[in-house]
Amino acid sequence: MTRKFKNIKGGVTLPHKKGTSEISTKILPIPKLVEIPMQQHIGACCEVLVNKGDYVYVGQVLGDTAKFVSAPIHSSVSGKVIQIKDIILYNGSKSVSIIIEPDGKQTVLPDISKPDISTKENFLKAVRSSGLTGLGGAGFPAHVKLDTKDRIPEALIINAVECEPYITCDYRAIIEEGREIVKGIELILDKLSISKSYIAVEDNKPAAFTLLKELTKDEPRIETVMLSTKYPQGAEKMLIYALTGREVPMNGLPIDVGVVVMNVTSVLALFKYCQTGMPLVSRRVTVEGDGVADKGNYQVVLGTYIKDIFEYCKGDNQKTLKVLCGGPMMGITAESYETPVIKQNNAFLFMTQEDLDFIEETACIRCGRCIDACPMGLMPLTLNKYALAKMTEELEKYHIMNCIECGACSYVCPAKRHLVQSFRVGKDLLKKAKVKNG
Ligand code: SF4
Ligand code: SF4
Repeated sequence: MTRKFKNIKGGVTLPHKKGTSEISTKILPIPKLVEIPMQQHIGACCEVLVNKGDYVYVGQVLGDTAKFVSAPIHSSVSGKVIQIKDIILYNGSKSVSIIIEPDGKQTVLPDISKPDISTKENFLKAVRSSGLTGLGGAGFPAHVKLDTKDRIPEALIINAVECEPYITCDYRAIIEEGREIVKGIELILDKLSISKSYIAVEDNKPAAFTLLKELTKDEPRIETVMLSTKYPQGAEKMLIYALTGREVPMNGLPIDVGVVVMNVTSVLALFKYCQTGMPLVSRRVTVEGDGVADKGNYQVVLGTYIKDIFEYCKGDNQKTLKVLCGGPMMGITAESYETPVIKQNNAFLFMTQEDLDFIEETACIRCGRCIDACPMGLMPLTLNKYALAKMTEELEKYHIMNCIECGACSYVCPAKRHLVQSFRVGKDLLKKAKVKNG
């Protein structure tokens, strides 16, 4: 593969605002209750495999399915299952949730042991058993991504771009566990017979770049590359384009252009699983925004409620007006403080009036700035018009499903049109119309 850096099409330059980047990760205490949804990934929802009243161990499978595009879900605590109920997640998906009262002992499932990864097949089975899904926010099951069938990727791209303001959990993973990340990359290269890997870092994170460069200096298969900072370069298709100049076809996958992309924290989680056999039961999240006093990165067990994070980080109820799951560009508002942390959550932003600075949307002035900013070559103003008018045929014609919901168009819009919200609604309408029409 000839590597040539490209400037992504469109995109915007955002303020850096990485105020937690130099604070070491802390561990959040085990909460009084955890709630573990059975839908924490793109794909099929898991079926519940435990009953109310059961005692469960840390690392025990709580839910799974035979469907390929899915990933098992494990208990993050030891304790008693006290309730199983239907919920709607912050992102609108319906799920069943298992509520567990921890006993505080964190007793690990007795038969947890290092997985057999001696062959490619066993390795892919182990990736599935780990419960790993894309930890950068997309939630795509890792075993699906790595199972390239008979195609050997030309390169493994490690996404360490972390391009949204505020979020620093990937950066802290590199600074604190960079050696393990490099070993994880080597493991994937070995198991999938891939000969080259690129770790992509933006130039606003020089310490991460320098460290990774140092850690890989004797590994010719891994090259750490620095890209100029531009949002949304961390989006998979954008990153592939920036590094290789190749464009993933509409409805295509990275392997269609010869690459596999993994988030840097996902690689770390995979390496740890292969070392210990402990599946994904906790993750590092960035806690930011002026609604909390103790901003930083925290290792939290999955299923912890936002209210427990808020309390531990000395949140101020009077000041906090909104909680975003994710960054300011792509984050989704949590409707309740009783929203549990799932695998996809990389950050929680506790926003105040100042952060929000809400401005009423006004009529589109047809300035075209949203078109220039769109990295996917879409017509945001037109999509907005059709989404509001619920015109699903037109939405399809103008490729709304290609929108990656990056928010670059909303960011530059002088009329402050709520473009991304309208695209989420538009996509939903189109999906429903397709189901209705068979
Ligand atoms: S940027 Fe806003 S005002 Fe300008 S064309 Fe797009 S939607 Fe209209
Ligand atoms: S239309 Fe979608 S992909 Fe294009 S800038 Fe807006 S949110 Fe991003």
